[in-house]
Amino acid sequence: MRVVRASHLGMCFGVRDAIAKVLRAGAREPLTVLGELVHNGTVLEQLAARGIQLRHEVAEVETPCVAITAHGASERRRAAVRERGLRVLDATCPIVRAAHRAVTALAAEGYHPVIVGTPNHVEVRGLTEDLDAFDVISTEEDVERLQPQRRFGVAAQTTQPIERVRQLGWLIRRRFPLSEVRVVETTVCVPTRLRQEAAGALAAMSDVVVVVGGARSNNTRELCATCRQHCERVFLVQGARDLRPEWFAGARVAGLTAGTSTPDAVVDSVEAAMQDIATRRVA
Ligand code: SF4
Repeated sequence: MRVVRASHLGMCFGVRDAIAKVLRAGAREPLTVLGELVHNGTVLEQLAARGIQLRHEVAEVETPCVAITAHGASERRRAAVRERGLRVLDATCPIVRAAHRAVTALAAEGYHPVIVGTPNHVEVRGLTEDLDAFDVISTEEDVERLQPQRRFGVAAQTTQPIERVRQLGWLIRRRFPLSEVRVVETTVCVPTRLRQEAAGALAAMSDVVVVVGGARSNNTRELCATCRQHCERVFLVQGARDLRPEWFAGARVAGLTAGTSTPDAVVDSVEAAMQDIATRRVA
């Protein structure tokens, strides 16, 4: 069995920079991260081991400084931090910040914002909490539920596949032919798109694909969905100990990819364990 890595996989610059920023600040002063810095248990354990606190609500924070995660936050949430007399350390990914600017501009120009994304995902909450009116869609059925608007402004959660954004934009145009529909594609993150494209190509040539990432990570789930379009045997693991040798029975090529919040060391250990399974099978 040959183990093949996707040409693009694993941690993106946005997550790397956010972790580095939080670790630097956490070494200087007591720090709380608001929400999960990344959807990855290994990273969260590292932060906790260094005394960096994790809280989901502003009211629960006990340190003078609060880090906003790579997923970003609304102005409303930042104001709630400042109202408590706390300082904000902004670790928002620049691509998420650009998505905030795009959505704000759409609303200011009179478009009804429609976000292609996962409802209640922390990034989507950040993108929408400051808006008076908006919709979040991810399926054709969601488009059917939209109310008529004179102008629709469609933007995407950064980790959405570009094809889905285009398809849903097209469906909105078809359903509301008299409305102006503007689709902003630039909010889709390039590192995510490269990982999705590489995962699709890898899955097409693999008998089995292993996706490494957190079960709650949106981009990891999207990677699994992309791989399943091309390969019947796709398995999501958080680390090497989740691998089962029987998954690889009869496989000639085993593909490996990973979500954008998966540390390199975790990807490497999964690859080593897959190589080990391959070697044991040959022996
Ligand atoms: S997945 Fe993209 S948008 Fe999200 S943190 Fe990484 S680079 Fe930024």
